[in-house]
Amino acid sequence: MMENNWQYHARYALKGANQSNDFFKTKAFKDQTFPIKIPLEFAQLIDKNNKNDPLLKQVISAKVLSKSANFSLSPLEDEKYSPVAGLIHKYPNRVLLIASQVCAIHCQYCFRQNFNYTEHDAISNWNEVQNYIINNIKINEVILSGGDPLSLSGDKLSVLIDNIANIAHIKTLRIHTRSAVVTPNRITNKLSDILNQSRLNVVMVLHTNHAQELSAQFAQKITKLSGITLLNQSVLLKGVNDSIEELTELCLKLFDLGIFPYYLHMLDKVQGAQDFLVKDDYAIQLHQQLKNNLSGYLVPRLVRDNGNHSKDWLL
Ligand code: SF4
Repeated sequence: MMENNWQYHARYALKGANQSNDFFKTKAFKDQTFPIKIPLEFAQLIDKNNKNDPLLKQVISAKVLSKSANFSLSPLEDEKYSPVAGLIHKYPNRVLLIASQVCAIHCQYCFRQNFNYTEHDAISNWNEVQNYIINNIKINEVILSGGDPLSLSGDKLSVLIDNIANIAHIKTLRIHTRSAVVTPNRITNKLSDILNQSRLNVVMVLHTNHAQELSAQFAQKITKLSGITLLNQSVLLKGVNDSIEELTELCLKLFDLGIFPYYLHMLDKVQGAQDFLVKDDYAIQLHQQLKNNLSGYLVPRLVRDNGNHSKDWLL
């Protein structure tokens, strides 16, 4: 029983180089600024005999420690667009809330790995966040991000969503999460009830980069959320998913599970993630091939967040 509890899994994730090296029988993990964290459910999907395993590559210490041109600590400069702590407002109709500073997994390419979470917590600063949204009636959608909003307990998440639903001009709640994929036990009956019972239109945007992440357990659990809109965003990552075969398989497998591919993001240039960079020309070529392989509604949009008020559409 305990083993199926998502909080149990969160507590016993692999943390740091020693635990990870022991588990994978390697010496490749190193402790560094962005600490290693790998949930066991994700670790068990990795082929321990394959040092190029696409899941392993996302969590292993691959940092190039020397600074590289155009790679910065905070490539999207989120803080510049934060009128009140815990809230980011880049587009007129929607705001993003930093709902949690915790993630189930630490992805080594993460653009928010240096984000100042302690100063940006939408829950502890709720009164200011609420007043800002109430006073901006053009806002009709609230996005929960982090960190990962599903690292909040069911009770905390429920209170937050109720508070958002109490603001009359908010119509849509969007939840950005990687937890649901890397720790499928997080998809509980309680989560399903909270989302299905809200008056808001609920959209969940999952973060999956490779078909190998979509385990049998995830396939079973995600059926609990069949009543809400499910989308997926991926990051195009060198050595992880930069082949037409892998991207096609991911899109098809997502669709089998009732999830639509939404965005394929170019890497945000955060310091240390240089090894993951896919060049624009090759990305555009891959995307063109995807269009040939898949029906239009299964082709994710190839985008780059340009760090200000918009995304660049690469195609
Ligand atoms: S789960 Fe998302 S926010 Fe957390 S480390 Fe991975 S990419 Fe970053």
